[in-house]
Amino acid sequence: MNIILMAPPAAGKGTQAKRISNKYHLEHISTGDLLRNLNDEKINELLAEGKFVSDELITEILENHLKSLPREKGFVIDGFPRNKAQAIAYENMLKRLNRELGIVIVLDIDKSVALKRIVHRLICPNCGAVFNDMFPDTKAKEAGICDNCSHKLIKREDDTEETYEKRYQIYLEQTEPVINYFKEKVYHVDSSINADYTFEQIEKIIGGVYDKH
Ligand SMILES: [Zn+2]
Repeated sequence: MNIILMAPPAAGKGTQAKRISNKYHLEHISTGDLLRNLNDEKINELLAEGKFVSDELITEILENHLKSLPREKGFVIDGFPRNKAQAIAYENMLKRLNRELGIVIVLDIDKSVALKRIVHRLICPNCGAVFNDMFPDTKAKEAGICDNCSHKLIKREDDTEETYEKRYQIYLEQTEPVINYFKEKVYHVDSSINADYTFEQIEKIIGGVYDKH
């Protein structure tokens, strides 16, 4: 079982990837984490600015990581492929590694809901936890304080309407072609309500696809 998870920013991709990997015992591969783990100053700078590394670099890093996984271990990948060139490179990589593409799950979210999540998002600079006062299930127990480590929460400088508009536009332009490319492998999920509802729909899709085998 291999799953590609695609979503615009703030659709809860990271959260869902973790839940999928826990329930179905899949390796969670976040290309963002793979890059951060390199501890390369230039790459970290790019990531902090919300920019992307080259298709070649990310593809190479991913292939090396997949090679290190046991053959029988399935995975859920988030943050890749981001554009059609990466999608094609990924297919070739899977052929080389003798692995299946599996399915592509796309989290759809209303732009206005996503915007609300971003603009009111608070993060813990100490442990990375994310909170949002606008939604009951993501509210910090004590306003402005991290539930996990009691550190003071901060708002990220680039969590603005303007930055979100830009990122959403990039997502539409670059990932729509990927969704079209993988067409018959793609399943859409409504991610506008809350994390539990999103996950229920994902469970139904995975059950429907993999129970038949
Ligand atoms: Zn914390």
